[in-house]
Amino acid sequence: MGYYKNCSSFEISLKTSKKHKSALKENEGISPPEITDAFAITKIQKKRQTQPSIEALVEGIFNQNITALSRAITLVESKNANHLEKANQIIKACLPKANNSLRIGITGVPGVGKSTFIEALGKHLTGIGKKVAVLAVDPSSSLTKGSILGDKTRMEDLVNDQNAYIRPSASGDTLGGVARKTRETIILCEAAGFDTIIIETVGVGQSETAVHSMVDFFLLLKLAGAGDELQGIKRGIIEMADAIVINKADGDTIKPAKLAKVEFSRALHLYPEKDSKWTPKVSLCSALKNEGIVSVWDMILEYEKQTKENKFFTTKRSSQNQFWLLQTIEDRLKSNFFEKSIVKSELSKQLKLIEEHKTTPFAAAEYLLNL
Ligand code: GDP
Repeated sequence: MGYYKNCSSFEISLKTSKKHKSALKENEGISPPEITDAFAITKIQKKRQTQPSIEALVEGIFNQNITALSRAITLVESKNANHLEKANQIIKACLPKANNSLRIGITGVPGVGKSTFIEALGKHLTGIGKKVAVLAVDPSSSLTKGSILGDKTRMEDLVNDQNAYIRPSASGDTLGGVARKTRETIILCEAAGFDTIIIETVGVGQSETAVHSMVDFFLLLKLAGAGDELQGIKRGIIEMADAIVINKADGDTIKPAKLAKVEFSRALHLYPEKDSKWTPKVSLCSALKNEGIVSVWDMILEYEKQTKENKFFTTKRSSQNQFWLLQTIEDRLKSNFFEKSIVKSELSKQLKLIEEHKTTPFAAAEYLLNL
């Protein structure tokens, strides 16, 4: 319970709510009750006025205070320009203390056992003295327009572990937006002393690519099938994976899991050598029975050692930073353009003209860009 000492009652309620199992899911937004009591309103206004200063939040983060960390992340996730300005200042102050972590991406279809696996791995890590932050990238969550506050309840053991911090996916209109917030959250978590950052995504759309470009090690969680392991798996994901871990290798599934391991290992050999010079590995585990988790961690450490020795580790991080710089510019330019009211109104007219074959896509684009 020591962790709760650092939490607001709001966070405690998140930790003890039992609605959902996955941090990738969202609770439906609950509208706040209408407040008519003048006293209550004054209290809220007072509370708003006493929001901690940037300095206090940064100090709190450096002191590994979870409430300060959560508040700073909320600023990062906010749409309010004033909050974003504050968030930027906090991130800037945190940067010198960032970067000292191992960032691990985990993807896999719903039901493959991501939460169970992350909990087992997370517990192993906190057991050996690590501090683990679990973040999620789920752009689809923004579609429900629900609250992002749900769902701290999966991985209950990890949630109650004072050396672990679990934050559900930010909501956002675009993958770029969600990914940016997650990247900034990584910096804040690192500054708060978390040395292992796990970022989870369900492979919707491009989210694996986004997560791959913010982590050091990318792990694909799979299930054993009926000998058709390679079917239905996107080639790009195999190319990104540093490890394929076949989960639920227990009970009757042990045999097909072993066969799947052989098949994946064979397939991975057909891919060209990676820039990291790391040969992706296939392993088996049962997250539920806590088997094979330590060997996955040992494999990750081996990767870290090898890529730090051959300098790929730092090269990759700087190319990721360059990628995100360009990505941010692209996102900003795009949203600036599409948010212009003249573009909004003219775009629909041009789309109609295209439909009627009265203009070409190129001429229409040229016209809109020149507005
Ligand atoms: P997620 O949707 O990928 O996060 O998957 P969950 O972790 O929620 O797991 C989905 C279901 O699979 C749950 O009922 C888990 O108990 C079960 N599960 C997870 N890992 C294992 C495992 O290693 N073996 C078995 N038999 N079941 C597992």
